[in-house]
Amino acid sequence: MMTDYDVIVVGAGPAGSIAAREAAKKGAKTLLIERKKEIGAPVRCGEGIGVEHIKGMDIELTKNDYASVINGARLVSPDLKNNITVRTEQSKGYVLDRKSFDKHLAMEAGRAGADVMVKTEVIDVIKDKDNKVKGVKVVSGILEASSDHTNNDVYDITCNVLIAADGAESRVARMAGVGINTIRPLSEYDSGYEYEMVNVDCDDLIELYFSNEYAPRGYLWIFPKGKDSANVGVGIGGDKSDNGIFAKKYLDEWIKGPMHERFKHAQPVAIKGGLIPVGSSLDRLVADGFMVIGTAAHQVDPIHGGGIGLAMKSGLMAGAVAGDAINNNDYSESFLKRFENMWNEKLGPKLKKRLLLRKAVEQLNDNDFNSIFNTLDDNDINLLLEGKYKGVALKVLKNRPQLLKSLKALIV
Ligand SMILES: Cc1cc2nc3c(=O)[nH]c(=O)nc-3n(C[C@H](O)[C@H](O)[C@H](O)COP(=O)(O)OP(=O)(O)OC[C@H]3O[C@@H](n4cnc5c(N)ncnc54)[C@H](O)[C@@H]3O)c2cc1C
Repeated sequence: MMTDYDVIVVGAGPAGSIAAREAAKKGAKTLLIERKKEIGAPVRCGEGIGVEHIKGMDIELTKNDYASVINGARLVSPDLKNNITVRTEQSKGYVLDRKSFDKHLAMEAGRAGADVMVKTEVIDVIKDKDNKVKGVKVVSGILEASSDHTNNDVYDITCNVLIAADGAESRVARMAGVGINTIRPLSEYDSGYEYEMVNVDCDDLIELYFSNEYAPRGYLWIFPKGKDSANVGVGIGGDKSDNGIFAKKYLDEWIKGPMHERFKHAQPVAIKGGLIPVGSSLDRLVADGFMVIGTAAHQVDPIHGGGIGLAMKSGLMAGAVAGDAINNNDYSESFLKRFENMWNEKLGPKLKKRLLLRKAVEQLNDNDFNSIFNTLDDNDINLLLEGKYKGVALKVLKNRPQLLKSLKALIV
């Protein structure tokens, strides 16, 4: 077994697998490490993705990779009396089958020449005598993992560039001790909980329900996986989930309460949940011989918490830069900054703008939302999705001038 690589990628989610594929395509000796014994499982995701995120990724989606094709989105008011349906190119997408999709991406990394290790967990980052990142310490569990690792192989694997693609609960950056902190206050996360359910009548649309009562600082969703099955979930503000009032409780109350009629025959076949960063991307993404990408780097859309597409974009950029670094024999922070600069240039302004909208929306109560649903139409939602806030905010303010303070940032 090889223990010396050019590039090591930790985490075989969408970010890590695409990064490993790109680095390998550049000729770098690449290793992709995943702690789970089966890539993609268990799923912790609503699995919704827009078509635009697949384009440019060089992925041929197979029929197994997605459960359904989505032709738009329906947004529903808190009192359930109004909805706005958007059916545009940019609202089209898929509800993926991430178990298959994530495995497919990891296979593409393998096909490009990367080595892949599953059931192998990075437990530390190793440094050289100059305190530079030099590889990882792993525990590879042929037997069931034991907390003291006595039943497992523990060994070091070296590399020149280490990429942390270890998701929302990222620990690798902290292990690296390079001054990149991936942990943010709870207020910068959403806490998500979801059932995959059968006996739920579904359309070809994703459905988003706004309600401070049942999803404080977040929303509830129904993402169809078929004509009668869906991911049904809730995301609530990370700082709203304490005092024993967890996302699950809100979701259960919504399903049994106002949505009872729709869900009266529904049965859960899976439970999924986890944290979703919804603040801004980390400012610093690289250090000497080190990069952090995807959801580990908080690269998630702050409006809806979608992170799959941005994780892949991040992996695409980071993997290519890591490969170039190997070919140039330069693993310095200043070389790897090409990735950070590319990210900030291509996605920074758009994501900052979307965070602005999120911050404004967070201040609205259910009466505000009900009134807004009476005022706006699908064209306004398209404008918001395109980042054109001013006209829409002015339209809302005409009916509800008391929102001036909350929406001020959208009209300047
Ligand atoms: C409830 C919920 C619903 C969501 N719904 C959606 C949605 O509908 N659409 C959307 O776009 N996004 C959604 N997201 C967000 C999306 O799941 C993530 O943004 C996306 O998976 C990020 O991809 P990634 O590759 O950065 O990280 P991940 O997919 O989290 O992959 C990280 C990988 O690293 C591995 N790993 C971690 N630590 C180590 C270690 N030390 N050693 C080895 N391996 C390690 C993990 O096992 C994991 O496989 C949702 C999230 C949640 C929690």
